[in-house]
Amino acid sequence: MPRTFALLSLMLLISCGFGGRSETPSTAETRAKFGFSSDIVEICDAPGVLGVRIDPVGRGSSNASCGFNDAVRVYAVGGVALNPPARMQCRTARITSAWMSEAVLPTFRDARRDLDSMRVAADYSCRTRNSRRGARISEHAKGTAIDISAFRMADGETLTVLGDWRNNNGGFMKRVFRASCRIWHTSIGPDGDRFHQDHFHFDATRDRGPNTWCR
Ligand SMILES: [Zn+2]
Repeated sequence: MPRTFALLSLMLLISCGFGGRSETPSTAETRAKFGFSSDIVEICDAPGVLGVRIDPVGRGSSNASCGFNDAVRVYAVGGVALNPPARMQCRTARITSAWMSEAVLPTFRDARRDLDSMRVAADYSCRTRNSRRGARISEHAKGTAIDISAFRMADGETLTVLGDWRNNNGGFMKRVFRASCRIWHTSIGPDGDRFHQDHFHFDATRDRGPNTWCR
């Protein structure tokens, strides 16, 4: 019996030591961690995406190209909080789930960084691309885009796109960005253009697949 116990302990140690936090925390664990109320539930058939359904967004705005149905407000993905919570289509929520589990969390885990939350710089916005007059309508107007400006770790360390892209954390920030490109249709960071010095832009247009635009 003691031998069995020792063996079990060893196996547990090995699985924890090498696997890290490989399992997605449960809804209850994530609610408790961030103090979410019980109406924050898993939504959109998107594993690990916690939020609430909301009314269609942006309908009745003066620009008919703006707004979307099947709308949700996402509070956390894969145990990582979105700060503030982000409005998006359910379809985008499912891509966000894949982005977190296949790109973001593995990259942070590899670097032994325990990601706690992400700063959302923009979600829905009825505007043109980069808010320029005459430009095409932004993916932000359709609930298919999210901008991320910072990543906060459980120990309080915070990496910002503006501050860390070009310093000694730059290699890690670029790994996070490039991994994200494999999930989203369009990914734009500080090397992309002057409008993206302080955030990563990710979006998922309906008609084309991931990794179409990554710079
Ligand atoms: Zn954006």
